[in-house]
Amino acid sequence: MITRFAPSPTGHLHLGHAYSLARGLKAIAWGGEIRLRIDDLDATRCRPEYVTALHEDMDWLGVSFDGPVMVESERVAAYDEALEGLRRRGLLYPCFCTRKDIEAALAAPHGDPGAYYPGTCRDLPDDPARREAEPHSWRLDHEKALALTGGLPSWQDHEGTMHFAQPADLGDAILARKDAPAAYHLACVLDDAAQGVTLVTRSADLAGSTPIQRLLQQLLGLPEPRYLHHRIVVNGDGKRLAKRDQAPTLRQMRADGVDGPALLDALMDERLPLGYRLADPT
Ligand code: GLU
Repeated sequence: MITRFAPSPTGHLHLGHAYSLARGLKAIAWGGEIRLRIDDLDATRCRPEYVTALHEDMDWLGVSFDGPVMVESERVAAYDEALEGLRRRGLLYPCFCTRKDIEAALAAPHGDPGAYYPGTCRDLPDDPARREAEPHSWRLDHEKALALTGGLPSWQDHEGTMHFAQPADLGDAILARKDAPAAYHLACVLDDAAQGVTLVTRSADLAGSTPIQRLLQQLLGLPEPRYLHHRIVVNGDGKRLAKRDQAPTLRQMRADGVDGPALLDALMDERLPLGYRLADPT
């Protein structure tokens, strides 16, 4: 079993990250490996000092990872190659919509509020002027993709085989953006495969990503991992911990004299520090 811990260096790590790490360590407690990946594709929010800080946090917790560390910003060639392949197969289309355009289209009377993207650019006529213009993003045509793979993907979670309800719920996901060489879904499936990950451990709020990621794995001929979507750590008010809300960081806990390895042991046994609990499964 090979699992991974894949933080984004957009802030200091907090208890929720340590819990995620603990779930991965617990999963391999009887044998296996845990690998580290730095999800640093969001150039506007990621900072090198947070990468340094996360290594310090790992040292404090007493965790060492197996194999080399994967850094997403160093993997652009692999993302480009996959995108080019999907483009050649006619599965991607350029999208010129801004976030604002999409919100406006969804609010329009005929817009489908259930869809992630109203499909504005899906069947644009081939216009030479547009061919010259730089698209805002590249989207996966989920209808074409599903026709190729033969239907909705399922996945194996710790609760059994999971199915996704509606093809439309998949939406035409963005796979690359003007300002990012690969969007999260694409980078995630390519990197999980390249790291040999057989168990994806992550919090339940990312479970919604799994159907589209399974679809991409099928399209790209990547192996199917198993999934462990764990419950989210919340504070006393039931609020999930978030970097932007200044949730207490691991480095703050270290400064307060908390014993790192003891904390990690407790989290592996699902014992949380006072004032925190696990959210109910949804
Ligand atoms: N980098 C993501 C995060 O920090 C996790 C991605 C994943 O586990 O698939 O939220």
